[in-house]
Formats: sequence, C-alpha cells, structure tokens
Amino acid sequence: MSDAPQRSQPTLSLHDSQRRATVPFVPLNPEHVTVYYCGPTVYDLAHIGNLRAMLTADVLVRLLRHLYPRVTFVRNITDVDDKITARARANGEDIAALTQRTTQEFHADLAALGVLPPDIEPRATHNIAEMQAMIARLIENGHAYEAEGHVLFSVGSFASYGALSGRNPDELEAGARVEVAPYKKAAGDFVLWKPSDAEQPGWDSPWGRGRPGWHIECSAMSHRYLGDSFDIHGGGSDLLFPHHENERAQSLCCFPGGRFANYWVHNAMLLVDGEKMSKSLGNFLTIRDVLAQAPAEALRLLLLGAQYRSTLNYTQAGLAEARRTLDRFYRALEAGGVADAADDTPLDAPMLHGVLEALADDLNTPKAIAELHALADAALAGNHEAALALRQGAGLMGLLQASPGEWFRGGASEDDAVIDALITERLAARKARDFARADALRDELQAKGIILEDTREGTSWRRA
Ligand SMILES: [Zn+2]
Repeated sequence: MSDAPQRSQPTLSLHDSQRRATVPFVPLNPEHVTVYYCGPTVYDLAHIGNLRAMLTADVLVRLLRHLYPRVTFVRNITDVDDKITARARANGEDIAALTQRTTQEFHADLAALGVLPPDIEPRATHNIAEMQAMIARLIENGHAYEAEGHVLFSVGSFASYGALSGRNPDELEAGARVEVAPYKKAAGDFVLWKPSDAEQPGWDSPWGRGRPGWHIECSAMSHRYLGDSFDIHGGGSDLLFPHHENERAQSLCCFPGGRFANYWVHNAMLLVDGEKMSKSLGNFLTIRDVLAQAPAEALRLLLLGAQYRSTLNYTQAGLAEARRTLDRFYRALEAGGVADAADDTPLDAPMLHGVLEALADDLNTPKAIAELHALADAALAGNHEAALALRQGAGLMGLLQASPGEWFRGGASEDDAVIDALITERLAARKARDFARADALRDELQAKGIILEDTREGTSWRRA
C-alpha cells in the first residue's frame, strides 16, 4: 500500500454452501484472513478434476491477498489412507516411498500450472497425536464411543448434523453410502479410529494399535493451525457430504465455543466430453496427460472459463480455443509494449476495476476473462496502460505469467538449451564463413520445428 489515496476496493461476496446463498464475505479478523482446503490423498497422479479445486483455491487466495493485508492458507496432505496401503501393496512399494513420490509429483504438477503453494501444508501422519487428543475429548463429552477396537462418532449426539449439506438424519440412515457394521449404534455413525493389523500402518492409542478415519484428519489439522474458528473452508462439491459434514460435527462437538468454518466454498465437478471422468470410459485425464499436449496456461484458462459453481466441460476443442485466446492476449501485450514477464507496477490502475469487480463477485472468472478481452482490444490498438492492466488482471488469475517471447517460443523446455547451442554453433560457422555447416544447422533446427529469424540484434527463434 502506498501513500496515494486509497482506491475503493470491491466488496467480496462468496456463495456459502451452509447459508445456501451468495453473501458478503466478512472476515473474523480483517487483519488476518484464514483459509483451509482439503488436499490430495497421495497414491496416484492428480487428475484434472482434482485440479479444479486447487485452481479455485488459488484464484480465491490470490484475490484475498489483494484485498487483505495477511492471509494464511492451509492445505493438507492425506498420507494415511486405505487406498494408499492398497496401492503400495500392488506396486510392491514402501508406503512412505509411495506417498513421498506422489507428493512430489503433485507439487510439480501444481507448480507447472502456477498454483501458488499453501502457507502451511500439514501431513496427516505428522498430526496423529492431535487426532487422538480430539477423539479422547469426543469420547469424554459423549459424542463418540468405543466398539471392537473402533471409535465411532455418534451422529445422534449432534443436533445440527446435516445442517451443512442439507440432508436430514433419516435420509442419511437410508443412504447407500453408509457402511453397515454390527458394532455401530446407528447406521450413520462414522469412524474416528479403526484397528490396524500387522500389515497396515498403525499407531498405539488408548483404543489399541490403529489408524485414524479420514474425516478427523482435517478437523485436527485445521484446528492446530487455524484454531476453533476460521474464515473459509473449501473443496470439491463431492466432499460436502459426508466429509465436510463430518469434519464440522467433530470440530463443533470438540470445541463448542468455536464456529469451525465461517464460510464453505464448494466447486462443481468437471466433465470430459460431457461425461463424468472415469477410467472405464477411457476419458480419465491426469494433469500430465494434458500438459503433454498443451501449455499449462491453456489448461488453466480452460478451467477458469466457467465460474467455479458451474459444471465445467473439458474438450480438446476447448483446450485449442484457450490456446488461441492466450495467443491473442500475448500479442496484445507485445502490441502494448509490455514485453517482460516481471512487472512490479502497483495493482491500482483504474483499468483493472472491471477484472477485480468480476472476481469479487463470487469469483466470476468468465466475466473477468471477458474484461481481459476488452483490455486486449485496447492493447492491440497500442494502448500501453491497457496492456499493463491486462498483464495485472490476468495475474490475479495466475495467467500471462510468461513474456510474449517465451509464450511464442512454446515456453521454456528442456530442449531450449540444445536449440540455443545449435544457434550459437551456426553463428560461429557463419562468422568462420563455413556456410555449408551453417545451412546444415539451420536445416537441423527446422527439422525440430524451429524457425530462425536473423535480425540486426541477433538471431531469435520460435516454434513453427
Ligand atoms: Zn478435509
């Protein structure tokens, strides 16, 4: 913030799943906004459906950082889960090796997409003592009970169970997803702790050697880092029930003085070619599958092309369209004289207001992208201010992070060094008047799809 008169910031409104309405966002403490997102269960490569939640969080946190002086964003890693144990066994791999490798792959994929890392990224296995303390407290105050080595949360003990997802307990009992087990007092009761055999990962506890249920992990980690009450809890709409309903029940029963999450933000699902993504349909796409075909920013733009609460349909045509849109935006940056990727001009240009207002309106990314098109029109006509606002407005959504030169060369890649070496060798051959060698090198580069442009400043290149 500078000494210049404060520009009025747009008011952020968010759709809160619990209030079932889009409401103004009022932080518990305007000096410090707190956000928790459920992170991945690390046993396989992340798919583009997972990515939608991560990108929604990224745009939300970028916007919050613009609007508030301090934001703490916590996103966990679930590194103990029966899916992990099963995969490690199938791979003949150590569980720790599998979770470490998959976590690194997840980080690399998100970094490729320009998703900013969370401030705190707790791992479930580093928070077992916190989970056990919560479980003990829930037993003590009558919200949980022990049965055959399990500890279960008693859904009937919490009057407001179902208030988040809008399901009533009768409906829940009849639900097909409820696991029936003889040790449960009621069908809807869910596991806080379960026994482990010698083959399964386990920790000693007052209830025997065992491992936590999934839901208690997030309750323990959000409490450890954000306390009894925090501002925003987010995730995909598939987590609303039972995961988030159960997190809320555990946390409010354990810490009745707090409010747990004050706002709940859920993104809708992603379809591929109009169908739910599944391995059996052959339309299952990992982030890596897509990045092998298109630049990361094209995938990012495609996923931001629908507002987060609308179903998004991923298609090849949509990906190609996103790439053409980015070509246009980068040409506009060039035309408006913004060549560098790095730019520290403060974010207060009046031209940015349209983009900010769209994002503040429950993260209306399609509207914000339409505003970028309007800025690009002006920039293409040579308006430098519009080109600056285009770069900054796009930056709020993590877009246009390269320079136009980098974009049109196809982004920095491993063979850039090889290409640069061949170009240097060709220049040396020309200096030595070995034109046969220089032409051979030009042909070699052309075969790689590299087009050379000789200018007075030197030789530049772009991909065909
Ligand atoms: Zn969670």
